[in-house]
Amino acid sequence: MHNPFELPGSFLKGNLHTHTTNSDGKFTPQQAVDHYRKAGYDFLAITDHGRLTPGDGLDTDGLILLPGMELHPGTGELGQTHHLVAIGMETQIDVPRDVTLQAGLDAIVPCSRFTFIAHPYWTSLTYRDLQGLSGPIGLEVFNSTCEYGIGRGDSAVHWDELLARGERLLGFAVDDAHCHYPDTLGGWIMVKTEDGSAEGILEAIAAGSFYASRGPSIEGVTLGDKQVTVRCSPCRAVHVICPSAGCGMTTYQLAPNGGPYTQVTLPLSPDWNPIRVECLDESGRKAWTNPFWRD
Ligand SMILES: [Zn+2]
Ligand SMILES: [Zn+2]
Repeated sequence: MHNPFELPGSFLKGNLHTHTTNSDGKFTPQQAVDHYRKAGYDFLAITDHGRLTPGDGLDTDGLILLPGMELHPGTGELGQTHHLVAIGMETQIDVPRDVTLQAGLDAIVPCSRFTFIAHPYWTSLTYRDLQGLSGPIGLEVFNSTCEYGIGRGDSAVHWDELLARGERLLGFAVDDAHCHYPDTLGGWIMVKTEDGSAEGILEAIAAGSFYASRGPSIEGVTLGDKQVTVRCSPCRAVHVICPSAGCGMTTYQLAPNGGPYTQVTLPLSPDWNPIRVECLDESGRKAWTNPFWRD
């Protein structure tokens, strides 16, 4: 079982979905770099629509830039164009819009280090659109611009349904900054790695060595057969989410008005699989681990 909290290294903060004036964002590429660097981010992917924004010539001042694109092959069963985020390509990927999602993935995935599904709630995707795909490593569980644009930033239910159906998908948080709303810095991932180079970060993300957040920090997760111990920044609740019906545990069961918690141990049933951990802060912002598949 992969547990990034028990791996050596340190956590690096980054955003994998950002737009610039090379598509429909308001930041120039240099403004985007400066914005995230000043906010303390360690890495950033600029993901303009259908276009690879080169990092050459940008003054990154230590911010690691990962090459990225947002691509739009095909439409979902409810008629919305698909949005995919691909990271780590060497050259621009051109994929037609009039293909199936799987055909688009078949073209994109071999040319990138990893690909994930963008904002499924905003896009009105269904499990029929997403189940059984070959290629994506995960999906955006939170997308800040979708939250600030139309209140549909949280796709956790999409994620849990796919997990319940046996899909092994990682859960990203991004801000998808366009700067049409106060969307920047609203969601990010924390990647555990000993290698802070672009290559090391790409490898760690692809392996699932990260957690995602809108605010709280998760500092440790120690998982046994019958309990899990979580360490986090002060949170009003900690949940163990299991996608099976009625399964899971939360500190609300221990004390409805308990907390704030910085360390808590919750019981598990050995047959809950997978499980994932969520931490909820006083402002209602969540952080979440990737699923722990207990096999
Ligand atoms: Zn999009
Ligand atoms: Zn986008």
